[in-house]
Amino acid sequence: MPKANPHRPFTPDPAQMECAPDVSGNAINGLGEEEFRRPDIVYWAPDPDTIPHGRLQRWFYTVNPDEPEIVAERARRKEILDAPLPELSERPVERSPGAWLEALQQYVSAGHCEQVGATALDRNWLFAGHDTPFSNVIVIGVQHDYAAISEAPKPGAGAEVMRQYSRAAFAAKAIAGWLRRSGWDADPVTGPMAGKITLIPPAIACGFGELGKHGSLITPEMGASFRLSAVLTDAPFASTPPQPFGLDDFCMNCRICEDACPPDAIFPEKQTVRGEEKWYVDFDKCLPFFNQTHGCAICIAECPWSRPGVGAKLADKLARRAGRLAAVSK
Ligand code: SF4
Ligand code: SF4
Repeated sequence: MPKANPHRPFTPDPAQMECAPDVSGNAINGLGEEEFRRPDIVYWAPDPDTIPHGRLQRWFYTVNPDEPEIVAERARRKEILDAPLPELSERPVERSPGAWLEALQQYVSAGHCEQVGATALDRNWLFAGHDTPFSNVIVIGVQHDYAAISEAPKPGAGAEVMRQYSRAAFAAKAIAGWLRRSGWDADPVTGPMAGKITLIPPAIACGFGELGKHGSLITPEMGASFRLSAVLTDAPFASTPPQPFGLDDFCMNCRICEDACPPDAIFPEKQTVRGEEKWYVDFDKCLPFFNQTHGCAICIAECPWSRPGVGAKLADKLARRAGRLAAVSK
């Protein structure tokens, strides 16, 4: 018997709903579409006036505008984003693909981020109408402080999300700066306004983990409690391979996020989205609660994989079960 949800029933603020466009965010995302197409930017547009949900994106900033932690984090992030990248060196450093990957780990060792991966860029990951001259993508993961994110949906969790977006932006700019000083041009891509590329598909392709039922990525090391940024470049990094660990089966038998989601936005089964079967969150149901709480984050905080030390044990258990099943079927 799931515990009673303290946030249900949820009634959206009429002032917020007055900003809602006529078009459904699920339609923009391609829910129910059988044919593949590139994604459109549905939210977090660099310029909110370019998307139908732009007024709602602006409304988000009217929530907790004077909360000191949020004000401080917003200023810090702006400073990071405004800092110029170093000049592109004229002499490209030559390394083997494996040596480039090894050198990239310095950013994990220095504590700028918790995980890095690299892969060839699939242009289908670019938002419709966007392009890049680069052929590779580096993906960067930064982990939330679990105690802070567990406060969701209180403002402390929103501030923690912003803190990690700042760290992710700092790491992306530091890596892009390192590459440019090494003679390889690079373009840092920082969330949440990633602008030209969706970050989850390249993160899956370069070994970060799998998509969970709550529509966020899950890794055995960080659960769902992390943020992403990326760097686009031609520097010849070796690819880090995908690392599936059997999450689908786990999510099929778990409904913690479904029960915890105040507006009941998490679909119990996979949906068809732009030609792909995948876990999907009802954008139109999620957004009003997300906006009203300045970022919600309940589903990623409640997911058992996010609890420190739990993800690795769960992944190990899934691997042992898969091994037993494989042995029986021989
Ligand atoms: S809470 Fe359960 S169902 Fe939801 S994403 Fe996490 S593991 Fe999957
Ligand atoms: S972020 Fe959205 S999907 Fe997740 S719990 Fe909050 S409202 Fe539900």
